[in-house]
Amino acid sequence: MIIAIDGPAASGKSTIARLVAKKMGYDYLDTGAMYRALTWKALSEKVDFSDEKQLANIAKKFKIFFETDPKTLKKKVIVEDKDITKEIRSTKVSSLVSIVSKVPAIRQMLVGEQRAFAKKGNVVVEGRDIGTVVFPQAEVKIFLTATPAERAKRRQQEFLKKGIKIDKTALERKIVERDHIDSTRQSSPLVKAQDAHLVNTDNKTVREVAREVLKYCLKELKER
Ligand code: C5P
Repeated sequence: MIIAIDGPAASGKSTIARLVAKKMGYDYLDTGAMYRALTWKALSEKVDFSDEKQLANIAKKFKIFFETDPKTLKKKVIVEDKDITKEIRSTKVSSLVSIVSKVPAIRQMLVGEQRAFAKKGNVVVEGRDIGTVVFPQAEVKIFLTATPAERAKRRQQEFLKKGIKIDKTALERKIVERDHIDSTRQSSPLVKAQDAHLVNTDNKTVREVAREVLKYCLKELKER
């Protein structure tokens, strides 16, 4: 069974997807990490981000590996034998990733890898276009939302846990900016699939949201 979890930036997709995967005994794929890793690679090769051809060329020779912690399902992101798990969350990568993910040739390549990953069986896959483009046949589709202010607050807390102080208003502005690029691009824009369950996460705890998502998954399993 494929469980697709989509939603805007910082809507809690990774946390929820990992929790749901753990409860279900499924594997988990963070497709945003793939676009971020490619952005990191483009930065390290000093490509011109306004040149789609240069970006697509980087994608051609790009190989990404995930190393899974079996207990937490947290993944290390490895590119060219380097652990770039932390680097891909930098503000630099966050501010450029939406430019990279607009390029159709890049999407085509990464979507191919995402589909290959799901061949292994039961998976939770999270991103922006999972229920609409990557796996339109997914048995369960979830679309997570929260207000930009709430999402900025959560992101700020995540950074604080790592000892980094970032202004909430600046974070909110960046989140809204990224959502705008992601939802207005030509290729696979961020949009709720018609048959996705809309889950508003405002004023809900992680456990409450996970429970709501799991309810849809268990219902699907029962009806099969
Ligand atoms: O989920 P995360 O915020 O890490 O995603 C980073 C970026 O990767 C998004 O803002 C979007 O530009 C891109 N992305 C995408 N399609 C996906 C997953 C992520 O375009 N399926």
